[in-house]
Amino acid sequence: MIKIQNHINGKYREPLKQKYLDNYNPSKGEVYSLIADSDEEDVAMAVEFAKSALPEWKVLPDEKRFKILNRVAELIDENQNKLAEAESTDQGKPLYVARAEINRAAQNFRFFATAAMQFASESHNMAGYAVNYTLKTPIGVVGCISPWNLPLYLFTWKIAPALATGNCVVAKPSEITPMTAYLLGELCNEAGMPPGVLNIVHGLGPKVGSALVSHPGIKAISFTGGTATGKNIAATAAPMFKKLSLELGGKNPNIIFADCDLDKAVHTTVRSSFQNQGEICLCGSRIFVERSLYEDFKQKFVEQIKKLKVGPALDPDTKVGAIVSKMHFEKILSYIELAKEEGGNLIAGGNIVKPDGHENGWYIEPTLIENLPYTCRTNQEEIFGPVVSITPFDTVEEVLKMANSTEYGLACSIWTENLSKAHRVAAEIESGIVWINCWLLRDLRTPFGGVKQSGVGREGGWYAMNFFTEAKNVCVKL
Ligand code: NDP
Repeated sequence: MIKIQNHINGKYREPLKQKYLDNYNPSKGEVYSLIADSDEEDVAMAVEFAKSALPEWKVLPDEKRFKILNRVAELIDENQNKLAEAESTDQGKPLYVARAEINRAAQNFRFFATAAMQFASESHNMAGYAVNYTLKTPIGVVGCISPWNLPLYLFTWKIAPALATGNCVVAKPSEITPMTAYLLGELCNEAGMPPGVLNIVHGLGPKVGSALVSHPGIKAISFTGGTATGKNIAATAAPMFKKLSLELGGKNPNIIFADCDLDKAVHTTVRSSFQNQGEICLCGSRIFVERSLYEDFKQKFVEQIKKLKVGPALDPDTKVGAIVSKMHFEKILSYIELAKEEGGNLIAGGNIVKPDGHENGWYIEPTLIENLPYTCRTNQEEIFGPVVSITPFDTVEEVLKMANSTEYGLACSIWTENLSKAHRVAAEIESGIVWINCWLLRDLRTPFGGVKQSGVGREGGWYAMNFFTEAKNVCVKL
């Protein structure tokens, strides 16, 4: 059985205490590999190596840093099939989804490699009197902590800008999906990344994650994960004055007006509800439909979701794969029960699926629930699975009130052919990202992040490059 080890100072290493945890294949519900159960001593060792690598890495000419990071992107592309299969097996996501995500992991490296060549100082001239310039310097050794839903995609989304700006990194992928981060270690070596620049420590969040957050040698934390973990991290990091970027949970609304292009709205809302089993922070989990279109939309939506094949990740016909872990599977099922108790009417799905030969895997049908008050727990709390609610509305004011009623504010989709209405709703919706007549269309230069309890700070483009640097103003009197 493969042993997933830490990657520290350019070498795969056993955890110092030589303890391992089980790693599951969700499609089968079986252990298929072991993962390093590291602790604060492994983190401390990784930080020391990162510190030693820093003096050289931070002054490396931009073009050299570009070449190394760009080579990592090429190697991810060259290994796309291997990485996609590993991701599907480890996470439970269908292969077509994993391929797209591995492609995006390469893009993340390519994008920030290029950004390293373009990132520049600013100058502010006080005419005839003084000139100011702003140096953007690396922070030092930074920590990156990523979740299990889009493993390599989100891992690289953090480490690529951190490295591009000249920092050394100690990173922790989710203990539930460690495989592709493990494989990335050797690709970084092959790309010529100097030892110690990127260190990957595996293990449990409350052990390895919290050791990273509290280590005084780590100067900034970029975290993506649940809101409760984010609060915990903020409470530890804030008194140490660490720079923090927190990308947290969501309970995103899809707002469908009667004047939308119905077929496109249905097709995309099915994707935004059930892609990756609904385990994407950007998935829409509350569908609001203008009353005159409600029945038509519902009927077409149900027709579409009944066609989605639920099955093992590696089966090429699978459209909805396995839920990532037994614990998460049980959490989602408990929310389906809660929805029933709250008066919800299950229009589609709600059942466990047991595909032939994979009876022990964790599968749930795409589920649609109506008749739930917008204030109930099912409509307020993040479920993070293939479960969505549908609710009619009559006016713009009413739908804004319902859409904005949660503690989250990550993303929203609006469907209408009326441009002024779309802009008005976009301005008033409380979220960091708004899609009009689309979903998950991403330009990596745009600000990415949430408001309210969906996070603090923005990632993407210059936002990420600025996060991973300190701005120093130098003023010269003439
Ligand atoms: P968690 O918050 O449980 O975990 C995220 C990461 O933090 C994991 O690597 C985890 O390790 C680690 N961790 C757990 N406890 C601690 C701790 N005390 N200190 C430091 N690190 C810790 O989230 P999930 O992995 O369950 O991911 C799902 C969540 O992520 C959802 O809420 C989702 O909305 C959110 N998310 C947000 C996105 C955004 O951009 N806003 C994008 C994608 C997901 P381990 O897993 O090993 O315990």
